[in-house]
Amino acid sequence: MKVFKFGGASVNSIERVKKLAEIVEANQSGPLVIILSAMGKTTNALEKVAETFYAGKKEEAIQLFQVIKQQHLNTTKYLLVFRYNACLEQLSNFFTEIEWLLHDKPVRNFDYYYDQIVCLGELLSSCIVSHYLNETGILNQWIDVRDSIRTNNNFRDADIDWNVSKEKIRSNVINLITAENKIVITQGYIGSTEDNESTTLGREGSDYSAAIFANVLDAESLSIWKDVDGVMNADPKKYPDAVLINELSYTEVIEMAYYGAQVIHPKTIKPLQNKNIPLFVKCFLDKNLPGTIIHQKKNKNLPPIIVIKENQVLIELKTQDFSFVGEDPIIELYQLFKKLHIKPTLIQTAAISIFICLDDKPEKIEQMALAAGSQFDVQIQKGLSLLTIRHYNEDVLTTLSESKDKVLQQQSKETVQVLFR
Ligand code: ASP
Ligand code: MG
Repeated sequence: MKVFKFGGASVNSIERVKKLAEIVEANQSGPLVIILSAMGKTTNALEKVAETFYAGKKEEAIQLFQVIKQQHLNTTKYLLVFRYNACLEQLSNFFTEIEWLLHDKPVRNFDYYYDQIVCLGELLSSCIVSHYLNETGILNQWIDVRDSIRTNNNFRDADIDWNVSKEKIRSNVINLITAENKIVITQGYIGSTEDNESTTLGREGSDYSAAIFANVLDAESLSIWKDVDGVMNADPKKYPDAVLINELSYTEVIEMAYYGAQVIHPKTIKPLQNKNIPLFVKCFLDKNLPGTIIHQKKNKNLPPIIVIKENQVLIELKTQDFSFVGEDPIIELYQLFKKLHIKPTLIQTAAISIFICLDDKPEKIEQMALAAGSQFDVQIQKGLSLLTIRHYNEDVLTTLSESKDKVLQQQSKETVQVLFR
């Protein structure tokens, strides 16, 4: 069994869906599970629908939704002939569900509605692609991943119930793989609670879904098909000298993702590492390019790996009575992170202060500052950027940071982080 995941960029045009079909065709002998993302920027557009609906602007939300609907209908029309009606029927059911919801008044929290609306992107794209492949003779079965991936109801960042999901994935997928049908197509990024409410796994979560399937099905490999050559040592849009890395260890990729490299969803590696399943990052524009292999083995010749996170906030917490920062305030602080679902990007402690660097999510920062305010004097600096260099050398560090207005620096043998204005 192999698992393939295609991101939004691999299905954002008619030509690209056709490219996808070529790749799948070359692997038709299967068994193969294909995990799909929403087409192009559909998730962002659906986010707007959810926000508008929740702001009480029902008509506007319905209009925004019509645009998304029309785009998918157009794609369907271009791609399908014989299966056009069958596909349309399936799509219409999905559309109707959302249209019903948009006519209601929101009575639950935003995150709940977000997930009910945003999950649609993956359902639509997988449905269209599945029909297209079937029409071109690449036989496959479409399944609704919400019958296979069970989560809790932590909407927008739901946690997987591994025991239930394991059982469901195994029985759902294995039953469908037969002598005639070797391919199963399903959605990334989404799941459902035991009450059948849709959930999402966090933005870019399709990689994680693919890793869950690979783990549960003991896949021989997972391939993530992207619109880049593989994993680069820096974002080529910001650093024209960026180079492709052919081989990376699981550990290195976990570190890169942790520091904000937008290579692969951070939760993807653990399920693969636990079963020693190699991950290939491949370019769907040219399937013959080598791409990057991510596995157990350490690569000793890595170039410096550069990650920049923009939109950072530094919160400085200073004890009010000049007491040292001991275990009690630290424990409370971590409890607060847990409660608010905050993941700091950098923490540094000093005698009477703690520095916490975070992504700028205004409501979280406000809640955090408010809660910490009872114990600490709180100071906040916004508009910062966090540069991380793994496997740095002094030359790279100097070149990348000398002209910067530094706020804080943290350094170990392997990693240096510079927070700057
Ligand atoms: N469609 C979702 C997103 O854009 C999930 C994914 O692409 O992995 O975040
Ligand atoms: Mg994506």
